[in-house]
Amino acid sequence: MKIYDTIFLDRDGTLNFDPGFIQNVEQFKFYDFTIPALKILADKGNRFCIVSNQSGVGRGLIEMSDLREINSFIRSECQANQINLLDIYLCTEHPNESTNRRKPGTGMFLEAADDYDIELNKCLMIGDSERDLIPAHVLGMDTMLVMTGNGHLTIDTISAADKPTYTVENILEGAKLLIK
Ligand SMILES: [Mg+2]
Repeated sequence: MKIYDTIFLDRDGTLNFDPGFIQNVEQFKFYDFTIPALKILADKGNRFCIVSNQSGVGRGLIEMSDLREINSFIRSECQANQINLLDIYLCTEHPNESTNRRKPGTGMFLEAADDYDIELNKCLMIGDSERDLIPAHVLGMDTMLVMTGNGHLTIDTISAADKPTYTVENILEGAKLLIK
């Protein structure tokens, strides 16, 4: 069994269906297995941070107030299930004007490390896109690629350098693997 300092989570395509630019809480749907997966890992002592690019805000497609409402929903679901979600980091920058905060940049991870005294080289990142895995590799974290969301596309195109530590069908399969 592997316990991490913190497990970082991508949002769209990893925790929830990704139809592209989710604009409000009504459009936000967790996969059926997401909360059970996080619960399995939380019960073993893991804590979590969400790191999510939300360029829809920078593109003028998503309102911050709606994003905050989605965050509140995610937090309340975690709270109700005793899942220790430390924080939700969002990068709302437009891709054309982005900084190191936007994944594959490391900015959100470094912020979290600073805010919560996290040892990044003892962490895991779970995501469905190569840009989730790149910053994790740079920071010495383990990586898990899920086949939900963009996962199937990612596995066909990922560079050898970004090969994930674990490749799994979905986050529930990943959780079961980690607690073995
Ligand atoms: Mg994703």
